[in-house]
Formats: sequence, structure tokens, C-alpha cells
Amino acid sequence: MRCSAVAATASLPTPIQLTQLESAERKRVKSLYEALGAHPDKELRVLFEKSQRVFDEIATRHLPRWVVTFSGGKDSTLTALLAVDYLATMDSPPHLDIVYSDTLLEIPAMRRAAGSFLHYLRKFGTMEALPIRVRVVRPKVDDRFWVRMIGKGYPPPKPKFRWCTRRLKITPAASSVTNGKPTAVLTGVRYGESTQRTGRLVASCTTGGECGQDYWAQSGPTGSNITYFAPIIEWKTCKVWDFLHFVAPRAGWPTQDVYALYGDTSLRFGCWTCTLVRRDKTMEALVARDPRSPLAELNKFRNEILVESALHKNRLWRRNHWAGLRIEFRQQLLGRLKTLERSTGMQLLSREEEFEIRRLWVEYLAHKRGPKPKGSHKSALTQRVASSNGLPWPSPTRTGHADVWRAQPAVEDHRAAPIGNDPLPR
Ligand code: SF4
Repeated sequence: MRCSAVAATASLPTPIQLTQLESAERKRVKSLYEALGAHPDKELRVLFEKSQRVFDEIATRHLPRWVVTFSGGKDSTLTALLAVDYLATMDSPPHLDIVYSDTLLEIPAMRRAAGSFLHYLRKFGTMEALPIRVRVVRPKVDDRFWVRMIGKGYPPPKPKFRWCTRRLKITPAASSVTNGKPTAVLTGVRYGESTQRTGRLVASCTTGGECGQDYWAQSGPTGSNITYFAPIIEWKTCKVWDFLHFVAPRAGWPTQDVYALYGDTSLRFGCWTCTLVRRDKTMEALVARDPRSPLAELNKFRNEILVESALHKNRLWRRNHWAGLRIEFRQQLLGRLKTLERSTGMQLLSREEEFEIRRLWVEYLAHKRGPKPKGSHKSALTQRVASSNGLPWPSPTRTGHADVWRAQPAVEDHRAAPIGNDPLPR
């Protein structure tokens, strides 16, 4: 994954830890430019300068607000770093919002790494008195993955029917992007190994990229107040790694976590449920590193969904084509998901999501059986659906929501930041 012998021979500097940053002396960490000065790779310097020119261009437009769409992977990490570093050099820096779309389905190790990096960014902004704000947004209950699939019968997402990215990532973050002020949206989209503008965008699930970065660039919210920029569009994958592995730590940035996660493999950054890829090599690589990890069970479940949802017996036939998933199959999926929760010790479904799923089933069955049920009939129907797979009927509670990854620590205290359109309490 590294580009060259130059990179391979450079020694890994000891990172400056957050505690050191917070020490009484609290010296200003080196800028990325200074850190790069010691690096022998000329190509890396050229790419860095190209990115700086993009930031110069944004600065000349005097946009009062910049937004980085952060997903936790290498590309958006680099984009966020470059933006924060540039901000520190400005006399009157604009407001920088770093927006993280928490799908509640991220691969746990990746979600943890993203959370601690966001935490670091936030602390850094406070210590350096920079106008940086970290925002974590989540999809509304109706748009969540399991509600759409098990509650409404959406088939698993496919490249030609990618219904999830907009609902899970783009829409929740859109309100953070479109707040009326002129805004520069910075995405980590890249052309990969090709420096030609005709090159293929690599930031997508199927090519080992970060889900969402491509989507932001191609179909994020638009308007006269929003301008999109891609400061690292010409960076090759290996140069991104070299920068995060050798240069950023010299300037005190804790980018080793993301490097350690990827290792020498080309992993995608996204949901563990993702069926855009036939075989999830990311999950397989993580399971191979730790065979006893609960990820093995999650991956098995993902594979089963992919295969079983394609079976005719589990699909509805409508207007001459195979449509959504049959209710019987969805009921079975819910039961299996709950079993998976018990065996892995992870909370994979919130109470609100389960309630919404069951409410949708009631609505669906009532519609299928004729006129809307009323009064006691409705409650009998409700009970029937609720007990159809032997599971207790959950009550919707505004306090019952726990973090989806109960087995994992919560995603740091950046949650105190405003939370988009998420109705759930923190
Ligand atoms: S990672 Fe896959 S499932 Fe998740 S939003 Fe992206 S395309 Fe959809």
C-alpha cells in the first residue's frame, strides 16, 4: 500500500499525545507544512501544495463557513487534517463544521476510531481557539436501515438500487450543510491512481473507499450558497497513506489508529450490513485478525441476508418484476436479528426502531386485509402481529434508547454537539 522505497525507509515518529498537548506549556504543534519539510518524497510535497492551492482558492472567496464531510476513513481524515491545519494559518478563519453521519451500522472498530479522532479534533479546536465544531448526525428512525428493510420490505441495497446512502448519510447531514450561509463543502473524494480528470472516483464502497464521499460529490445538497471542493482529488491512495503514516504524526496528529485499522489491505469504510459488495473483504480481513470477534457472526448474517433475500420465495411479485421482501421473511429476519444481539452482546436495533418496524407491520397487514381496523379490532391485530414471531411487543420509549454498540464505549463526548434531525435523546 505504500508508494515507494522512500516512504518505507522513513522512520515512524512518536506521535504527540493529547495529554502532551494539554500540558502546562502547551506548545503549538508543528504545522503539516513544517512536518512535511523533513520528508524526502517530492511527489508528496507537490500534492500537498496542490491541496493548499485549493484552500487558497476557497479562502479568496471569503465564505464564512466550511464543512468537512467526515466518515472516519483515510480520505476524509486527510481532508479534515488539511482543512484544520490551513485554518490555523488564517488571520480570521471561517467557521469549520466537521460533520459525521453516524449510520448506527458502522463497523465497530471503525466507529471507535472515528469517534476518538473527532474527539481529538474538537479538543484541538478548543485549545487553539479555532472556530471548529464537530457535529454528529443520525438518520431519523423511519429512514434507518432495519426499519426500511424489515419494516417496509426494502431489499438489501445493490449498486443499481442504493437506497441507503442518501437516507443514512446525506439527508441527516444536509441540514448541517444547508443553513443559508455561503458554505464551502469539502469532500475527500479522489480520482485514485489516475491523475487525469477522466479518472474514476474511488471513494465508494465497492472500491475500498469511504461510503458517502462519492455521493456527496455527485448528489449532495445543492444551492447557490453551497460550493463543493475536493482538496485531495489528485492524491493517489499510497500518498494518502504516506501522509497519514509519516507526516501527520510528526505534527502531532493521531492518525495511527486509522492506519492500524486498514493495515496493508484496501478496506472500505462503511456499514457492516453493506450488500453493495458481494463478499465483504473488509469484514473478512477484520475477522481474520481476530477470529473470536463478534464480527464473524455479523458477517455471516450479512451474507445470509444477501443470499436469502434474492430467493423468489422471500420476494413479492408485482407488476412483472420481483419487488420488496415478504412479510413472513421480514418477521423471520427480526427474530434472527434479536438472536444475533443476544449472541454477540451488541445492541443492533434500538427500541424505537423495533417499535416502528412492528407499527409498519400492523399498518401493512391492516391494509392487506381491507378497511382500517378500529378500536379493539386494531388492538387485537396489533397483538397478533406482535406475537407472530413470539417476541414481546416493545413500547416506544424516549428513554429506552441505548447506544447501538452496547458492547462498545459511546462515541465520545462530541455528541454534545447539535444533533441534526435526530429525535432521540442523548
Ligand atoms: S456502507 Fe453500504 S449500506 Fe452503508 S450507506 Fe454505504 S452503501 Fe449503504
